[in-house]
Amino acid sequence: MEIEQTDRDGLAVFRIDGSGMTTASLVFHVGLIDEDYVTAGITHLVEHLVMHRTPRTVANVNATVTPEFTEFWVRGSARVVAEHLAAVFDAVRSLHESVDAEHLRLERGVLSAEHSGGTPLGIPYVERYGLTGPGLLASGPVALDGIAPEEVVAWVRRFFVCGNAALTVLGPMPEGVDTTLPDGPRHTRSEPELLREVAPMQVVTDLPAVLYGMELPRFPGSSALERIITERLTGHVRTGLGSSYSVQSESLVLDDARAFAVFAVDCAPGRDREVAVAGLAELRRIADQGPDQADLDHDIAAFEELLADPEFGSALLFAAAFGYLQGIEPRLSSDDHLAAMRALTGEQVRDAVRSGLRTLVVAHSGPEPLTEADSGGAELPIAPPCTGPEIQGRALSRRLGRGVPRSARLVYNDDAVALVHEGEWHTIALRDVVGMGTADETRYLVSRTGCTFYVTPREFRGADQVVAWLDRQVPARLHYRLPD
Ligand SMILES: [Zn+2]
Ligand SMILES: [Zn+2]
Repeated sequence: MEIEQTDRDGLAVFRIDGSGMTTASLVFHVGLIDEDYVTAGITHLVEHLVMHRTPRTVANVNATVTPEFTEFWVRGSARVVAEHLAAVFDAVRSLHESVDAEHLRLERGVLSAEHSGGTPLGIPYVERYGLTGPGLLASGPVALDGIAPEEVVAWVRRFFVCGNAALTVLGPMPEGVDTTLPDGPRHTRSEPELLREVAPMQVVTDLPAVLYGMELPRFPGSSALERIITERLTGHVRTGLGSSYSVQSESLVLDDARAFAVFAVDCAPGRDREVAVAGLAELRRIADQGPDQADLDHDIAAFEELLADPEFGSALLFAAAFGYLQGIEPRLSSDDHLAAMRALTGEQVRDAVRSGLRTLVVAHSGPEPLTEADSGGAELPIAPPCTGPEIQGRALSRRLGRGVPRSARLVYNDDAVALVHEGEWHTIALRDVVGMGTADETRYLVSRTGCTFYVTPREFRGADQVVAWLDRQVPARLHYRLPD
């Protein structure tokens, strides 16, 4: 299959000609990882506001926000696809002007109901970055109700622009669509600041799954790495443990040369530890011996099988559009994909997993931590808790008869606030605050490091001073209303 790349008033268009039904997709390079703790969900809100403005259609339509992209998808006859696409473009253009407050209120309500926190796949990202960028996968939207129409318009003007979009079309061209979008540049991302030095670690969670997160290199053909690792984990954990487990993966681009992939293996209750150990052993095996030739051959055969299906053109088009929006040379022919896949060697896969293990984050539900023996002799320290460091400052003591333990104190100075209890310091530096929930005289501090606590005069004598000071020091854009 060959993709034709053209430019339409500055909008990149990727197309595979054909007969029958048309599948079209308008993609923007913006997603959850571009948001922050208090604006989390704003891209999803934009997606809903756009779809809200499109009329009822007989076409098959869908719209999604992934961590990295926002996509409006439609399939049907060229005529109905044209109608829907025109409405989508029209809605995006209109959101550059204004957002109807009533629609916003409605969609915020819909979204609040749709969301139940983040995805467990985000846990390794939180350990790496804290509650920022990819780490937001784990937290989900917390302050949707506070998002104002002006913020939505500003978000649309920044990301839903011509240079940051691509249109893909499979099949007959939908004619007569006004595809103009306001000018604006392609969005480039850089890796967020790391929470701590990267080294293998483990986290004990309460999830019925084991997660393995690791950096993987990006090079032509590297997309096979994730599939090969997934296949190996699926096959081995199944044959090794005699039960069927499903393996899901999610990977995010860090920069031109690296991605971070998370593999999640489902566990039957009580078998987490066994699964964690079996998965680790399998990853070590790939790192030591590489994959089998059969693993590489299977991946290519699976791709060739997909190519026999004309609808697979959609996947090739998405890959081309995603590549283009990420600033890499889009691959325009299925032969190029095949050539890159055939060039992938077992040594490359082995080396990729070997270096990946040096950045490994394993999350499992324990309850006991994995030992060196469990991980094949490699050290796997437990991720540090959200405590420390000690600070000097004014100390407030607890009011009698309140919820916090008797010995707890609140300590603060010009740069930080700490909740101290039994020698443990939960210290939040002002510069690390990613959100501050407010409810009457109470403040809820959220640190990028994952540390959170309440500051309230109801619990600490004199805390009204701290609250007043926090209100001045924490930028207004990070304040949000706590749910009642
Ligand atoms: Zn939705
Ligand atoms: Zn803490």
